[in-house]
Amino acid sequence: MSPRRAFITGITGQDGGYLAERLLADGWEVHGLVRPDDDAHSTFEGAAEVALHRQDILDHDAVDAIVADVAPEHLYNLAGMSSVALAWERPRGAARINAVGAVGLMEAAWRVQERTGTPVRFVQASSAEIFGQPDTAPQDESTPLRPVNPYGAAKAYAHLCAGVYRARGLHASSLVLYNHESPRRPESFVTRKITAAVARIAQGSDEVLALGNLDARRDWGWAPDYVDAMVRAAEHEAADDYVIGTGRSHSVRELVAAAFARVGIEDWDGRVRIDPRFVRPVDATELVADATRARTRLGWAPTMGFVEIVARMVEADLR
Ligand code: GDP
Repeated sequence: MSPRRAFITGITGQDGGYLAERLLADGWEVHGLVRPDDDAHSTFEGAAEVALHRQDILDHDAVDAIVADVAPEHLYNLAGMSSVALAWERPRGAARINAVGAVGLMEAAWRVQERTGTPVRFVQASSAEIFGQPDTAPQDESTPLRPVNPYGAAKAYAHLCAGVYRARGLHASSLVLYNHESPRRPESFVTRKITAAVARIAQGSDEVLALGNLDARRDWGWAPDYVDAMVRAAEHEAADDYVIGTGRSHSVRELVAAAFARVGIEDWDGRVRIDPRFVRPVDATELVADATRARTRLGWAPTMGFVEIVARMVEADLR
């Protein structure tokens, strides 16, 4: 029997790498879409086995042709501008890639399914940022969408489109992913920025860590768990929206304390300063997930808590 085929956009990112590893280990044939100018080296295990297709996600005709050629059983859309901070600098780019790019992929999947009669299962990597500043915490699939930044607005459009295509007959699930971290996070994210700096300080650096809003709270989970949720959603008989997070939020200040605690530094006040450059124009203040639907329908559960995630990231940076 020939292996099942999966197509992953954004395969050079944190989640793309973990997802490719997971699917390869499960015996899938994995195809990935890569930006022509993306020179990121894919460092995940088995990267050499992945069939890479170099194409701009916004060249819709070319993407249609690639998807038609691969005819994947599962299509995971992980491509996109992944950072809220960057989307504030480039809101038009965020809209093009995170919104128009996503609907382009859904349309490509739909067309292949229509032409071949073989179902394509689509997974959209959405974001808690679609909730922006919600009135209620925790949030679930019925929480109103109210994005407060260009990143969240673009992701909200893509999330709504997944519902539109689902109604049209595509097995399209949108996973509302809360922040999920790993040693593969770039330092543009606050977790890795902190763990990398703390590791350098532990090894003798006298730098002072410049941060923005220490009171911002996030629901931080372990990235491989979120990739597991994506696979479960694709495999489940019915497509739907799923909120994916741990259900616990922590402040940036707690993150700093946990990272310093891992290297035995309790008194870290003088090691950190506030720099207005890192304070956001508007910040989502309390985002925390109620993942009951994913737990009950998909049998999904996070495997790692906050302190352990921070410790693992610091340990990786110490190496
Ligand atoms: P995001 O939730 O996708 O924007 O992930 P980030 O890791 O970039 O930011 C998480 C939270 O940390 C946000 O509320 C930021 O305002 C806050 N934060 C505080 N200081 C910093 C900083 O120096 N860099 C970043 N990236 N975020 C910071």
